[in-house]
Amino acid sequence: MPELPEVETIRRSLTPLITGKRIEDVSVYLPKAIRGRTPEELRQELMGKIIAAVDRRGKYLLLCLKEGGTLVFHLRMTGRVIFRATAEEPLAKHTTLVLDFAGGAQLRFEDPRKFGTVDLLSDHAHHAMDLLGPEPLGGKWTLDDLIKAGKTRKTCIKAVLLDQAVVAGLGNIYTDESLFRAGIYPGRPASSLSQEEWQRLYGIIQEVLAEGIEYRGTTHRDYVDGLGNAGGFQERLRVYGRSGLPCVNCGTPIRRKKLAGRGTHYCPKCQHAEREAEA
Ligand SMILES: [Zn+2]
Repeated sequence: MPELPEVETIRRSLTPLITGKRIEDVSVYLPKAIRGRTPEELRQELMGKIIAAVDRRGKYLLLCLKEGGTLVFHLRMTGRVIFRATAEEPLAKHTTLVLDFAGGAQLRFEDPRKFGTVDLLSDHAHHAMDLLGPEPLGGKWTLDDLIKAGKTRKTCIKAVLLDQAVVAGLGNIYTDESLFRAGIYPGRPASSLSQEEWQRLYGIIQEVLAEGIEYRGTTHRDYVDGLGNAGGFQERLRVYGRSGLPCVNCGTPIRRKKLAGRGTHYCPKCQHAEREAEA
């Protein structure tokens, strides 16, 4: 599932390709993915509009329209948003939506699992994005924000980090990687973390996300950027997807277990608070 670094990489790859382009036509192949409108209504509202900017909030990809309004893509499990310079290439089997631009280029939303959604928001519309917590990168998120959101929670620290209202954009991959680098067992009750641990985790989350963006995201299964290129951060994963393989720090086999409803990867030695937490 694309998380902050993947959606940010898509945003960066699309920005030079579609900014300033005018939408000439809209084809919807999966009507249920369009929120609050019929395909024809969406088409009528988008035709002739110009893409002013490509933005991101948490895991949402946003196309901001010059005339006002924002087209919001939620990629969910397997969604991809891919630019094509021409319409010649055949459509992928699981195409949800295609935007045709003046000049012949296309933006295609493909989604094999079909959980992704597309929403056209007017400038003042309410949306699930309103409930998102702060963006972890860019200097607005503080250590205090994290501690206030987490320290009274009795759920495990992993569940707290996955909660998009606490901080926007973290998913399974980058929470596992962050908790490993911080040396914190993902099943620890959030309320048991010390000030020093919160501080370490706060810095490491930003470091891991920035590195994820630098390496252009993690391609575990489906993710590609706006040009169809795979990411590179999968080569740098230290625990995610490595169950049974030796820990990069200590050689102990990495374990996987279900926590916060998600398959969670950790080193039982480096993230050693497991026994305390389960006692
Ligand atoms: Zn280890």
